[in-house]
Amino acid sequence: GHPQRIAVQIFPYAKGRRLLLTRDVTSIELAEAMRRDFVANVSHEIRSPLTVINGFIETLQTLEVDEAQRRHFLDLMAQQARRMQALVDDLLTLSRLEGSPAPDASHWVEVPELVDEVAAQARALAQVLHGGRQTLTVHEGPPLQVAGAHAELASALGNLVSNAVRYTPADGHIELGWNLLTDGGLEFYVRDDGPGIAPEHLPRLTERFYRVDRSRSRDTGGTGLGLAIVKHVAQRHGGQLLIDSKPGQGSTFRLRLPPARVAAATSATPAA
Ligand code: ADP
Repeated sequence: GHPQRIAVQIFPYAKGRRLLLTRDVTSIELAEAMRRDFVANVSHEIRSPLTVINGFIETLQTLEVDEAQRRHFLDLMAQQARRMQALVDDLLTLSRLEGSPAPDASHWVEVPELVDEVAAQARALAQVLHGGRQTLTVHEGPPLQVAGAHAELASALGNLVSNAVRYTPADGHIELGWNLLTDGGLEFYVRDDGPGIAPEHLPRLTERFYRVDRSRSRDTGGTGLGLAIVKHVAQRHGGQLLIDSKPGQGSTFRLRLPPARVAAATSATPAA
């Protein structure tokens, strides 16, 4: 859907003769446009919380406020500062993922431990956002190990589960589990019975800062970078992210990774 862009250079090389050099610069210009968009997005995402913080600083500096008001203003400022912190953390994560070589494929990650760790974090978030009403069920698959970087996989899976927690209402249900696929690959899945996503949004969902509902995303602490991070981690591990969702029918996110191995009996915790 993008128009082709051709750069033309003209070299006069003899009387009345010219040499015409053409070069297809479509991809260069597209990359440049994406970079400009990205910088504009980041600036905007930083400017809005900063504006709020500056406003409260000015208020505190110029107005007499009582103790309760002062506390309230500080809470609101802290909330905006956390938003900026989350954004900068995600930006650093993305830039590390882009700038470093693929993770060491000879390092094995214990799948059940990884999932336990992610589930514990998600339960803590659900407690804060929904007061413990939402249910999060873990479906234990086979005791597998998968090649890759523990921290990266935890961050990818963590983003998927925290999205499910954030976008699913308080009375909703979330399921997290893993399967061994017939080709030997590993599939993590995160399923929710939340609002679902309309088909026209699906192809753009992993783009940086693409959000279906801006205010819902921001109100629950979203940076707009989560699924971009998941997609990067999947690709670096030779895998892929699959999204299956319909409005009103919830969403399922699957993270597929290349062949896993069954954990050796010796790596299991010995019975006491
Ligand atoms: P954000 O920080 O906004 O959550 P993400 O990249 O993680 O950014 O997700 C992009 C967008 O995809 C979200 O803003 C939201 O609109 C949509 N989305 C992600 N996960 C879900 C989900 N489980 N249910 C409904 N919508 C979702």
